[in-house]
Amino acid sequence: MTMIVFRNARLFDGSSEELKEGIDIVVEGNRIREVAEGGAGSFDAIEIDVGGRTVLPGLIDAHVHLMAVHLRAANNLDYSLTLMTAKSLPRIKAMLDRGFTTVRDVAGADFGLRQAIAEGLIIGPRAFIGGPGLTQTGGHADHRRRTDSRLDVDRNANGVDWFARIVDGPEAIRLAVRDELRKGADHIKLMASGGVGSPNDSIDDYQFSEEEIRMAVDECAMRGSYVAAHTYGSTAVQRAVKNGVRTVEHCNLIDAETATVVRDHDAFVVPTLVCYEITEKHGDELGLSPFVMSKLRHVNEAGVRMLEICESAGTRMGFGTDLMGEMEFAQSHEFVIRARVQKPIDVLRSATSVNAEILKRSGELGTVAPGALADLVVVDGDPLVNISLLDGQGENLSLIMKDGGLYKNRLPARETAGATRAVRSAAR
Ligand SMILES: [Zn+2]
Repeated sequence: MTMIVFRNARLFDGSSEELKEGIDIVVEGNRIREVAEGGAGSFDAIEIDVGGRTVLPGLIDAHVHLMAVHLRAANNLDYSLTLMTAKSLPRIKAMLDRGFTTVRDVAGADFGLRQAIAEGLIIGPRAFIGGPGLTQTGGHADHRRRTDSRLDVDRNANGVDWFARIVDGPEAIRLAVRDELRKGADHIKLMASGGVGSPNDSIDDYQFSEEEIRMAVDECAMRGSYVAAHTYGSTAVQRAVKNGVRTVEHCNLIDAETATVVRDHDAFVVPTLVCYEITEKHGDELGLSPFVMSKLRHVNEAGVRMLEICESAGTRMGFGTDLMGEMEFAQSHEFVIRARVQKPIDVLRSATSVNAEILKRSGELGTVAPGALADLVVVDGDPLVNISLLDGQGENLSLIMKDGGLYKNRLPARETAGATRAVRSAAR
């Protein structure tokens, strides 16, 4: 098995309060074998001199839409799945370029995309997928035109059916959840409140009955899976977590009491602030309606205050971005926005160990420790002092390793096999 040894790293392991200096990391195959303070031994290996740079676990984005090639969801109505997939390839690769070695897709991607990435047919981060998000008739992901009154046809037979499945009533939810889990979903997404991009609802609406939410949660629990819910307002968030939802996405309009309810239910808030900030700048020119733009401004204003509320309540926060179409370039700017309120190390924790916990993969993802999958990012400089080193398109990342494979490397590397053998025979 190929071994790669990283020498002289300054390590953020995904959870510790302090970075450790002078660390060697030994990777064997696709796993981390050893993390050694004061230097690992000699191996027949490729040695990479990190030169004191900062090593992070591969970053995780817990809220992406790999196939959302348009900002305006209604544009997808005219797209075939093949065209959408082809257009999504560069944006999937760009996420890995930014150091995201794992993403959670919360509406759009299916098991085929996950498998194509895993087999190396598509270059990109390891994907956890949920299939289409479930939405009620008239809910956040029901993008049918108002003129569309056909009730006698399959409402899901159109170009947005990859993103949304319209379901009403507990029994229909049961069937949809079982069906998506059958197709390999890692989690189920529920649209549990109104949203920004939806043409027919208000941001303060809450959606799905509590019975419907509970049905989805129970069906997921039976399969070891869980529900992620799209929610903005406090009522929607509380209804979700009190009925067993594990992650509440966005949450811009959350109040202090609700943040404690999320905390006390061991649920996670997944903020996605960059999408509002960037989309507010560019939405008009990209054809968002005045109605959508007014909702956008409303939630954008509330965003940073939400971070303060969750931070002081001790509510656990994951890290997400939710960027659609043309806005996708701004993914890593989320780090900068989060650091306006949080300590940089807490933002990094969100994007590594906390997100790994959300994915139920603690110890394997989002950490640099023996036994973990070998996902590593090397940063030129100190992101704890200057978190904007992570912003952009990966310019300040000198190395990206995913699953033990070197996706990118501009550090000096050398084969030590011969030298190591000589040392061993001399010792004998
Ligand atoms: Zn989203």
